Amino acid sequence: MGLLSLGTPLPWSEAKEFADHVRKHGIEQFLNIYHHQKNVQKQCLLWGDEIEYIVVKFNDKEKTTKLSLRAFDILEILEKPEHDWLEGITKDAPDALWRPEYGRYMIEGTPGEPYGATFRDLVGVEPNMKLRRKMAHAAMNPDEYAVTLVNYPRLGCPHELDPDHEPNGKACQSMFVPDEIINPHARFPTLTANIRRRRGSKVQINMPIYHDINTPKPFIDPTISWDRNLFDHDKEAKNGAALPDHIYMDAMAFGMGCCCLQITFQACNIDEGRRLYDQLAPVAPIMMALSANSPIYRGYLADVDARWNVISSSVDDRTPEERGLKPLANDRFVINKSRYDSIDSYLSNDATYKAKYDDIDLVYDQAIYDRLREDGVDDKLAKHVAHLFIRDPLVIFKELLDLDDKNSSDHFENLQSTNWQTMRFKPPPPNSSIGWRVEFRSMEVQLSDFENAAYSVFIVLLTRVILSFGLNFYIPLSKVDANMKTAHKRDAVLNEKFYFRKNVFTASQSSSRPGTPVEDDDEYELMTMNEIVNGKDNGFPGFVPLIHSYLNSTNIDIETRCKLSSYLSLISKRASGELLTGAAYIRQFVMNHPAYKKDSVVSSEITYDLVKRADQIAKGEYHPTELLGNFTA
Ligand code: ADP
Ligand code: MG
Ligand code: MG
Ligand code: MG
Ligand code: MG
Repeated sequence: MGLLSLGTPLPWSEAKEFADHVRKHGIEQFLNIYHHQKNVQKQCLLWGDEIEYIVVKFNDKEKTTKLSLRAFDILEILEKPEHDWLEGITKDAPDALWRPEYGRYMIEGTPGEPYGATFRDLVGVEPNMKLRRKMAHAAMNPDEYAVTLVNYPRLGCPHELDPDHEPNGKACQSMFVPDEIINPHARFPTLTANIRRRRGSKVQINMPIYHDINTPKPFIDPTISWDRNLFDHDKEAKNGAALPDHIYMDAMAFGMGCCCLQITFQACNIDEGRRLYDQLAPVAPIMMALSANSPIYRGYLADVDARWNVISSSVDDRTPEERGLKPLANDRFVINKSRYDSIDSYLSNDATYKAKYDDIDLVYDQAIYDRLREDGVDDKLAKHVAHLFIRDPLVIFKELLDLDDKNSSDHFENLQSTNWQTMRFKPPPPNSSIGWRVEFRSMEVQLSDFENAAYSVFIVLLTRVILSFGLNFYIPLSKVDANMKTAHKRDAVLNEKFYFRKNVFTASQSSSRPGTPVEDDDEYELMTMNEIVNGKDNGFPGFVPLIHSYLNSTNIDIETRCKLSSYLSLISKRASGELLTGAAYIRQFVMNHPAYKKDSVVSSEITYDLVKRADQIAKGEYHPTELLGNFTA
């Protein structure tokens, strides 16, 4: 997200008056960047990961945990080397960069500088991730731990914060979490409140509960204050917002308070970036299922393994008209998805792209599209941007309304950075040497840095394979969306099938050859995770075998190859079911815990042991072979 600008944020009633202003200048800013950078050719790959951590405070005497709301004190210490470096006080770039996140209990760490294109860089990732965790711990109190659970299991249960606060804040008006849980920088409470105001109700999140033998059926959550009457919005819960047999959540923190593992790559030029964006889009749901690590919400076991839908609902600012619940009167569009969702259109113009893959109705702003086209932007890129710009800017700072469009990208980024999609196409910042980048955003953070490195390196290698073998993963986007739904399901890796392209080597031209209508080179089929990752007889060769044959064609020393093979092996065994996903491991941990009453409830006692275990796994003090295999032993 970069450094956050300071200023006075406008409440929604005022911000909406400036929506067109921000969009209009945002487009001019984009055009300026586009014209300056569209022909730039970068020589090499640069890339980096982002890992988000939750800060948990342990009370070992009482065997309890709390989320520590001290992230900002911790960040002050963590960010000092960067500040000293920027001010020239120290010469060397810092080992890591640290950023705040939505939750006041979250920190985000990235490598100090992006990694390069060599295999040495790939094996440097895990040590850097381990170093980051050490740095985080060194900046925290001895009873605080930086844990890479996607979600704090009892987020939103009473008295789980340190310091404790009642859930009665005006920004989110949640029945479960207080405003003090939100990053105090003005941007975040404003974002929270403006989503609610724009939407006209609190956000509404329902994840299906996992029905165990003692879970009441139907499950009507006894922990919801159904009759609370503190805010107007309080009646929503009993008026249908809280579904039976679901874990109901009502605040942005439940989603944006989850931790992700994201990977950003710099492409050699804009076209390669667009191509990677497209090729990785069908991979996003696959990798979400394979990295699934979040089976618990608000103290209950869920019947899903992954977080995405929680975040998606947690920032869904669409009005009832936009959601199609009322005829359009005041709003401009009916919009099929939240701002946080899978992509709606492909972006590349290369020869393998076909219009039929774009089978989702794309909503876009016609005037913005026209403006982009008039200035020479091609159809696909213009549609991509005009689609992002159907949204309103949610946080506008009064002091930052009038900017120099030649030297700023703030208005463009206002919309770009609040379109949280599975893939993000990142244009260079104005006047910088940074190139066109693509971000892969669907993965869940893993408990250990071995796993986080494995998933990161896997994605980087996959991009190398896509480019060097010229692979074609295109399938219709409606099928990618279907995969996204499937990917949430409990044990999706084992029990579900995903749409994937049958022939990834197909030359694009052959299917349009006259007189050969029978063979469809563009066919896709439902495959198991094992088939997609490890290959299918007489069919798709599989991600891991493809990566191995790529590595076989390169010059690489044995030690490095061994390390990379251990990463690939982890991914391969997760896909085959030989190893558990994090979600399956966590679920089993809860269900086998002596205090678990088979009623879906994840008590504070279980949470203490689980978070402790997560920390031990991260530090290498505990090695569950069913999760990690024997690679790191
Ligand atoms: P955001 O939160 O907007 O996605 P961050 O700055 O938190 O962005 O993370 C960006 C990631 O991209 C980091 O891992 C960083 O190392 C990496 N990165 C930085 N510069 C480049 C670059 N020129 N090309 C590719 N990746 C880069
Ligand atoms: Mg970031
Ligand atoms: Mg972010
Ligand atoms: Mg982040
Ligand atoms: Mg990111």
